[in-house]
Parts: sequence; structure tokens; C-alpha cells
Amino acid sequence: MMLKGKKVLVLGMGISGMGATRLLKDKGAKVTINELEDSKEMRARAREFERNGIKVILGSHPLEILPGHQLIVLSPGIPLDIPLLRQAEKLHIPIMGELELAYRFLPDRSLIAITGTNGKTTTTVLTEKILKKAYKDVQIAGNIGIPLSEVVRRPGKIIVTEVSSFQLETIKKFSPFISCILNISPDHLDRHPDLEQYIWLKSRILTNQESDGYTILNRDDPRVYPLRRKTRAEVIFFSQKERLERGVFLKGPHIMRKFEGEEVVVSRDEISFTGSHNLENILSAIAIASLYRLEREAVREALLEFKGLPHRCEPVARIRGVDFINDSKATNEGAVKSCLESIAQPIILIMGGKDKGANFFYLRNAIKERVKRVILLGEAKRVIKAQLNTICLLSEVENMRDAVREAFNKAQKGDCVLLSPACASFDQFKNYEERGKVFKEEVRKLGS
Ligand code: ADP
Repeated sequence: MMLKGKKVLVLGMGISGMGATRLLKDKGAKVTINELEDSKEMRARAREFERNGIKVILGSHPLEILPGHQLIVLSPGIPLDIPLLRQAEKLHIPIMGELELAYRFLPDRSLIAITGTNGKTTTTVLTEKILKKAYKDVQIAGNIGIPLSEVVRRPGKIIVTEVSSFQLETIKKFSPFISCILNISPDHLDRHPDLEQYIWLKSRILTNQESDGYTILNRDDPRVYPLRRKTRAEVIFFSQKERLERGVFLKGPHIMRKFEGEEVVVSRDEISFTGSHNLENILSAIAIASLYRLEREAVREALLEFKGLPHRCEPVARIRGVDFINDSKATNEGAVKSCLESIAQPIILIMGGKDKGANFFYLRNAIKERVKRVILLGEAKRVIKAQLNTICLLSEVENMRDAVREAFNKAQKGDCVLLSPACASFDQFKNYEERGKVFKEEVRKLGS
């Protein structure tokens, strides 16, 4: 892709937009960045870019900036229907996402791309940890690392990245060497028109793959399994329910893989991060590693070392017999359900935040069976209350401090207090990490 001298407009100055800008600059493009937010942080970023000869426009997306630009590169957070993009289409200015841009500069057969509604980050990190047992040159890109456009400036031989539905909205040729779809359940239905469209977007990770690539699919997920027909790559399944002819699966207490021969990789009770949702992540990471012919011992070692990631069903403390778990990253109903199902004790559940169009009613069975009381927090309080008030006891609170205190008051020895919000965090917190951190701080205060 020739970028030298081209006038390119980057929309969004978050992590992806900044990565794209640096890559474009490396390739000799003349870059302008346009960011809606005009905050202190954005102004500091703008000054840094301006020192390097990049023009920055903050505060709005003015239509007048379009003429003269030959390409628009989008950050994943930008909705596709904003007036600026509609106008760009009328002017026939090509639009591509940051993921697509980065992809154009990747070495052949280097990319492993992981998508799914939940488990992307966990699986991406786990895959990296396993592959690193045998290969030095493994890089990670995405939410937890640096954006792909930054990584491709100095790419290694193997790059593992997580890919969201937002990113898949703006791909054209994007085609990973190995793609993986973990699961699909409703999410982001405030941005995508319906579940069909969301599934279609997820499937775009594999539709450009060629026969020399691999597609790893969850055999047990009825929304994922049919996607095997959409790829030209070789399909490898993983399953918790079926013994497969080829792939990664469970046999009693053992995690098995069957490629050339069948072998036990590890026993389930040896692994410290549990729950059937994490098994999904583990099975898929083993499938990917097996394509690189990683020895059983190396895979096993990495699995035993991995303790899970913060803010994802993360144990925080036990205070006077009550366990506290931080699952702040659970921003949709599927993630909450999986965490509820992995806890055997009675649960006091702290939920709420910024509603993303979730259907809380979907959680009714899991809540009925496992939850003693739901503590409601944030903007989504009213919606959740309307959907769950006949199902269990509810308390309403104003902030995390009160949520933790109310939960502890209502808990008995042997119970578990779980923060698993089913909502985004932006109504009261900067992001899910801050929300999780505040939860943990409040829990620690109880113990002191
Ligand atoms: P993502 O990157 O897709 O958001 P994470 O690994 O960050 O996924 O986990 C997000 C949330 O989903 C956490 O609450 C976590 O406990 C839960 N989770 C992780 N893996 C799965 C899975 N395979 N299925 C359902 N929920 C999962």
C-alpha cells in the first residue's frame, strides 16, 4: 500500500488512532487527526503530535476538513453513521479501519486473530504465554498490549491480537493466518442493529481467509458452529461436550488434543483459573498452539503458570468468611452469566452502570438459582429493576462504596460478593479498570 505523500485523515485520537497516525507517518503520509473530545489529556496528545508536524483538530468533526484527503482511517470507537463519514462517502474518499491499515503491513502468515463476545483478551494473553514457551518472537496486540498498527512498525514472526466487532466493521482485505471465534452472545446491540448483523460482523474475521490458513471454532456454540461454512481455511474445532475426531476437547477430568495422535495435555484440576468459560479460552489457545506444533509439556507448563487476568472473575479477598470477586470487565449479560455459573456459593451481585442495550432478563435463571440479592448501581438501575424485580431481592445504591457496604451487610459467612456489572462503566468511571480498582479499594477498607 503506497502512502507516501498521501493526505490521510485519522478519526479518533485514542490508542488505536495514535498507533495508526505513527504508522502512517512512518510510511510518509501527511496526516491530520480529528478527535471529538477536547480534554486536557487530548490537548497534551495534540501538542506532542503537532511538534512532529501532524495537524490536530479537536472538539468536533467539521465537514470542511474533508476536501483534499485521499484516505480516512477510523478508530474502532467511531460510529460509522456520523455526518462526517456520510459526507466522505459522497465525496468518494476511501475509509478504512485501523486494523485494516495495520494488516496491510504485516508479514505473511504472521497473524493470529481472536474474536468472540467474551474471552478475547484472556485467550489472546494465554495464547501468547503458551507460544512464548517455544518461540521468542511472539508479540501481542490489542486492548491489553499495544495496537496492531504500532506492532507492525517492528513486527515479529508471530503476532496474536484480539479483534472486536467494531474493528471488523471496517475491514476489507483483512485475513489472518489463524482466526478464532470463541463464542457469540448478544452484546453491543446499542450499536449493531440486531444479533444477525452482529454474528455476520464476527464472521468477517474468517471470510477472507485462504486455504493455507486455519479457522478455530467453538463446536458447542450454535451461533459459531455454522460459520465453518464461511471460511476457505482449514477448520479446527474445540469442544467441551464432544470427543472430536480432530481438535481439542474434554475427556473426563482431562483436556485432550487430537491431531497426529491423541494425548492428554493437562488435567482440569491442575489449572487454577476455572469456570467453563475459561475452559473455552483454554481449549482454543491449545488448538492454536498445536498448529505451531508445541510440545505437550510446554503447553502444560504455561497453563499451570497462568493465573487469569485482573478484573475477570478475579478473587479479591475473604473478609469474615465472605469472599469478594471483581469481574468489572463483565460488560454484557453473557460474561455475567459465565461468572455466576462458575461460583458455587450463594452470591450477592453488584450490577449496573451504563446500559448498552442489554437484556437483563436473560440472566433470570442464573440469578434465580444463585443470587440472594442484587445491588443496583449507576444509570441502568431503573432498566435492571424493571426486568429483575420479580426474580430476586434488590437494593439500590448511589456509588461503589455504598454498594460494597450494602453487599457486606446483607452477606452471611460462606457467601460471595461479586461485582459483575453487565454494563459499561462510563457513567461513573473512566473505564472498567477504574471501576474494578475502586471496588477492590472499598473491599479492602472493610477489612481494615
Ligand atoms: P473480552 O476481551 O472478550 O472482553 P475478557 O477476557 O476481557 O474478554 O473477559 C471479559 C469478561 O468475560 C470477564 O467478565 C470474563 O470473566 C468473562 N469471560 C472470559 N472468557 C469468557 C468466555 N469464554 N465466555 C464467557 N465469558 C467469558
